[in-house]
Amino acid sequence: MAVNQSKGRNLRVATELNELRQARCQLANPLGLVPTMGFLHLGHLSLVEAARRENASVAVSIFVNPTQFGPQEDLATYPRDLPRDLNLLEKAGVDLVWTPTPEIMYPEGYQTWVTVERISQPLEGAMRPGHFRGVATVVAKLFNALQPQKAYFGQKDAQQAAVIRRMALDLNFPLDIVICPTVREADGLAMSSRNAYLNHEQRRAAAVLYRSLQQAQALYDSGERNAEALRRVMRQIIEAEPLAKLQYVSCADLLSLQELEGEISGQALLSMAVFIGKTRLIDNLILE
Ligand code: AMP
Repeated sequence: MAVNQSKGRNLRVATELNELRQARCQLANPLGLVPTMGFLHLGHLSLVEAARRENASVAVSIFVNPTQFGPQEDLATYPRDLPRDLNLLEKAGVDLVWTPTPEIMYPEGYQTWVTVERISQPLEGAMRPGHFRGVATVVAKLFNALQPQKAYFGQKDAQQAAVIRRMALDLNFPLDIVICPTVREADGLAMSSRNAYLNHEQRRAAAVLYRSLQQAQALYDSGERNAEALRRVMRQIIEAEPLAKLQYVSCADLLSLQELEGEISGQALLSMAVFIGKTRLIDNLILE
């Protein structure tokens, strides 16, 4: 299928793997890949823009990957709007979109998994068992199917970026992983497809994640180097918001993601997961 030939641009949409491979062969190198779960927002589009700038062609995958969702998570309700997504991607100058189905990605008899060990274990990995196994597996499959020279991920999902980087290095994928900054709403809330779940009051309350990160950053800038003191200020600010329920706050070593105790010396990652109603939001900030 091809949409919009009128502008001279040709966004190709492939679903089946053989269609995808055929379309891939016709794309100029270097190819930049942006993996997504769709319901696109300006965060996704910033990755597309970076890919557009740095490559001869750009491919985007849209796949709500069932294997990275836990049994109690929001796979069934995850927001989807493919026509809108395709329209946005066409305008953004994307060449190829892959929209596989779960049956194409995981056909009957499927039994091969990618497990990235230590870096997958803390933080999101501890709260969402199996999540990064699903992520690493699907991203490895995307890399194999599309053979990009560069792949683009958001700092919004800091641990995911670290897991993918590690996997690409460990499995000798011949590509560069590019991490792009988090795109935020005016009040600081990190853009996320899941923000669509929030009602008006919850949307207002959700700004507390970034506010708490900023307060911890301010404390750090004023000279505080104790990791627990930074966690404490984030905890206090989140607990003061009645609609927010804290799952975890972390001040971890940026490379290993191991929780820091005592004084921070190198680079640290502040991160958190917070429930606003039933919606689970994450955010993070790097302390330089
Ligand atoms: P998702 O569709 O949520 O799986 O996200 C697809 C990619 O977009 C991932 O690499 C995310 O880290 C990235 N992304 C999601 N939200 C943002 C954001 N607000 N700013 C930058 N990148 C983002």
